[in-house]
Amino acid sequence: MERVAAVVVGAGVIGLAIARRLASAGLEPIVLEKESAIGTETSSRNSEVIHAGIYYPRGSLKARCCIAGKWWLYRYCERRGVPYRRCGKLIVATSEAQVAVLERIRANAAALGMPDLELWPAARAIALEPALRCSAALWSPTTGIVDSHALMLAYLADAEARGAILALRAPLESARAREDGFELEIGGAEPMRLFCRILVNAAGLHAATVARRIHGLDPAKIPRMWLCKGNYFTLSGRSPFARLVYPVPEQAGLGVHVTIDLAGQCRFGPDVEWVERIDYDVDPRRAETFYAEVRKYWPDLPDGALQPGYAGIRPKLVPPGAPAADFRVQGPDEHGLPGLVNLFGIESPGLTASWPLAELVAAKLGLPELPSEEAL
Ligand SMILES: Cc1cc2nc3c(=O)[nH]c(=O)nc-3n(C[C@H](O)[C@H](O)[C@H](O)COP(=O)(O)OP(=O)(O)OC[C@H]3O[C@@H](n4cnc5c(N)ncnc54)[C@H](O)[C@@H]3O)c2cc1C
Repeated sequence: MERVAAVVVGAGVIGLAIARRLASAGLEPIVLEKESAIGTETSSRNSEVIHAGIYYPRGSLKARCCIAGKWWLYRYCERRGVPYRRCGKLIVATSEAQVAVLERIRANAAALGMPDLELWPAARAIALEPALRCSAALWSPTTGIVDSHALMLAYLADAEARGAILALRAPLESARAREDGFELEIGGAEPMRLFCRILVNAAGLHAATVARRIHGLDPAKIPRMWLCKGNYFTLSGRSPFARLVYPVPEQAGLGVHVTIDLAGQCRFGPDVEWVERIDYDVDPRRAETFYAEVRKYWPDLPDGALQPGYAGIRPKLVPPGAPAADFRVQGPDEHGLPGLVNLFGIESPGLTASWPLAELVAAKLGLPELPSEEAL
């Protein structure tokens, strides 16, 4: 059986960031991807927003990794020529009652070390975005957008330049923990067996399924996961907004917001639809709710302007109605198997947090830290 130092399961943005980090440590990882291309699941079905990190509880992994990740991402995109724009974002109150929510968001951001959010009267927000209607708005200057596919390609290119190998159509079927590593059964067109010392499960929506296939891992350590779909509708014609516009957040998501892409196109979403299985079809009948939600802050949205776009699915660690859970990066300290790291519940802001999450995986594996310039 061929022996390799490290295997990463999943070539989404998280698996690729981890592959890049392991390759920088000289481990020449193999990245297993069950599909025929990188990033075809959640990493290409999201809002592509570089989040500022303002909503998450203090001390949470989401807060820490998002705030640190944002700065890493801006520097990395700049250096590697990954398209991005620090366009800023307005979070809008559409009733007087919601202004207090904006105050709470600002206070949370300040407690997290972000004193740069500004609470604006409606007139100032409307001067910036004339199509907008609101009672007040919170301005977040460090929020931006990124080309997520270009980011994944940059992570992959860096990883490959340092010795990583990407194996497409190569699903991990099962693994067996041995004293010094893991025996892997890999399926697909060219099934093979591999032995690795380090195994990282970055399988996104399938992370719990992959974990259940690791013989030797205590099943009690594998969390239950729920699927929460987010649908998007695109706007035909020119975008009336040059910046991101968000309503105040809802329980399972950030609310149906305006996302602009780097080409200036505008889309609205994601909404919240709890589902039993992975299915990316967008039901055109959901448009009715989108018109109602968007018109709360853009009353002039014309009839017939919205088209079904795409959908992504959030891997949730809690059921509908429960308070949001944190990311779960599970290393040997938690499950007791040396060399194994599982990543569960990597929903938003996973794209923004990809770099610090990769650093955290390296730390869980006991790899030495890299000096920051070398890391870039
Ligand atoms: C609707 C929505 C909006 C979002 N918006 C944002 C945002 O604006 N900003 C932000 O920062 N984050 C956002 N996120 C979160 C972000 O998209 C995710 O956190 C991130 O993409 C997760 O990446 P991943 O690599 O963990 O998962 P994925 O991209 O799903 O990658 C997992 C990979 O593992 C592969 N795989 C699974 N099982 C196996 C197996 N057995 N063998 C081999 N390969 C396997 C899959 O095929 C897949 O390619 C959003 C998420 C959603 C759902």
